[in-house]
Amino acid sequence: MRILKFGGSSVGTPEVIKGVVSIIDGKQKEDSHAVVVSAFRGVTDGLIRGAELAASGSAEYNDIIKELEDRHIDVIRERISVYRQSEVIAHFKMTLNELEDILTGVYLVWELTPRTMDFIVSFGERFSAYILSWCLTDSGVPANFADAREFIKTDIRFGSARILMEQTYRNIRDYFKEKKELQVVTGFIASTERGETSTLGRGGSDYTASILGAALGVDMIEIWTDVNGLMTADPRKVKQAFTIPELSYEEAMELSHFGAKVIYPPTLQPAMKAGIPILICNTFSPESSGTRIEKQPTGKNGIIKGLSSIENIALVTIRGSGMIGVSGIAARIFKALAEAGINIIMITQASSEHTICLAILSKHAKDAQKSIEEEFRIELMEESIDRVLIEDDMCIIAVVGDYMQRTPGIAGQVFKALGDGKINIVAIAQGSSERNISFIVNKDDEARAMTALHDAFFTKMAVTNGTGH
Ligand code: ADP
Ligand code: ASP
Ligand code: MG
Repeated sequence: MRILKFGGSSVGTPEVIKGVVSIIDGKQKEDSHAVVVSAFRGVTDGLIRGAELAASGSAEYNDIIKELEDRHIDVIRERISVYRQSEVIAHFKMTLNELEDILTGVYLVWELTPRTMDFIVSFGERFSAYILSWCLTDSGVPANFADAREFIKTDIRFGSARILMEQTYRNIRDYFKEKKELQVVTGFIASTERGETSTLGRGGSDYTASILGAALGVDMIEIWTDVNGLMTADPRKVKQAFTIPELSYEEAMELSHFGAKVIYPPTLQPAMKAGIPILICNTFSPESSGTRIEKQPTGKNGIIKGLSSIENIALVTIRGSGMIGVSGIAARIFKALAEAGINIIMITQASSEHTICLAILSKHAKDAQKSIEEEFRIELMEESIDRVLIEDDMCIIAVVGDYMQRTPGIAGQVFKALGDGKINIVAIAQGSSERNISFIVNKDDEARAMTALHDAFFTKMAVTNGTGH
C-alpha cells in the first residue's frame, strides 16, 4: 500500500493532469491507498491575493474569482467526458459561489482574520481534489473525493496549525476502514475541534500525505513534484545541481529546514517514526528514479549530501558586558521570541559569552527586536546590555550530510571554498549532531557561495568519479 501526493506543480493544466491520471492508473495495480493533492499551481497564491484585495476594499477580487473559474472549468472540459461535465461543473460552481460569498463578506467588512484566510485558501485543495477524483473516475480509475477536514484535526493556530495526532490518527483509520475505492484527499487543509477550517502551513500537502501514510501504516509515501527528487542544491539556484539518490530522514530534515522547498519540513517526522520510506518523484519524468528517503541509506554517495539556503534572513545580535557569566540570558531571549511566535532558525554564541546571534526571517525582525528589548528593559537601562542589533538582507546556507560527523576536515573544506571565492562569512553554527554546518552570508553573496560550494563538493567530485553530473 502506498500514498501518492501530487503538488501544485503537478496539477494545473489539463495536459499535466493527464500525466497524473496515467501515473495513478499505473500505480493502482500496485495498490495505492490514497492520493493527496495540492491546489492547482498558483491557486493558493491567487486566493491569498483575492482575500487581501477584498479586505482592502478593492472589487478586483472578482477578477481573481473569474480567473479561478476559467482555469478549473478548462480542466473539467478537457479531461472529463461531455456527459459527466455538467454535473461536475454544477458542483464546482456551487462551491465557487461559497467562495464568492465569503470574499464579498470580507470586502464589505474590510476585515480578514487568519481564520477567515484559512477558510478562503481551503478552496484551492477542495477544487483540485474534487476535479481530480472525477478525472480519475472518468478514465476508468474509480475514485472518491475526500475532504481532509473530516479527519485531520488541529489546534487553532490558523495559518500554521498543529495536528492533534492521536485524534487524527484514529479518525483516519476509521475513515479509511470502510473505503474500497481510491480516495483523493485534499492536502494542506484540516479542521479544529470546533469544526473551523485550518491549514498546515504553506507547502503543507506533503505533511498531509505523511500523516495519512503513518496512520495507515503504508509501505511507501510518494511525493510527486516537478524535479527529479531532492537535489544537491535548489536547481533554480545552482544549475549544476543533481539528484541525490538516497538520504536519511535526518539529512532530508536538515535540508528542508534550511530551505529545500521540495519537501515541507514537518513531513519527515511521522514517516520517520513509522519507518516508512519517502520517495520523491518527478511527474514530468516518471521513469526517473528520484530520491529515496529512509532510515539507513547505503551511504555510498558522499559525505556531503546537499546544500540549501534561505533568503530574507535577519541577524539579531544581543551584546553586552552584562551577559558574561550570567545564567539564563539565552533562556530569556528564547522565551521572548517564543511569546511573540517567532521561530529561530540558527543560533550562535561567542565563547566569551559576550554576544548571542540569532537568525530569523526578516519579516519578524521588528517584532523580535521589540520583544527582546522589552524582556531586557532593565539591563538596557543599566547599559549592561547594548541595544539589540538587527542586520537585514542576509542569507543562511547549510551544508548537510550524516557522514560529516565521522570525517575530520569538512568544515575546513567548506570555509576554504568560501575563502577562495572571497565570500565573507557573517556568522557560523554547527549543529551538535554534526550533520550540518550552517553559516550566514550577505544575500548578495548567496549565488556565488552556493556555486563555490557546489563546485568544491559535487561538480569536481562527480567529474573525478566519472558520474558525469
Ligand atoms: P510542489 O508544488 O510539487 O509541492 P514545490 O514548489 O513545493 O513543489 O517544491 C519543488 C521545488 O522545490 C522545485 O521546483 C525546486 O525549485 C525547489 N527546491 C528547492 N531546493 C531543492 C532541492 N534541494 N532539491 C529539489 N528541489 C528543490
Ligand atoms: N496549496 C498549498 C500551498 O500552496 C499547500 C501545498 O501546495 O502543499 O502552500
Ligand atoms: Mg510543495
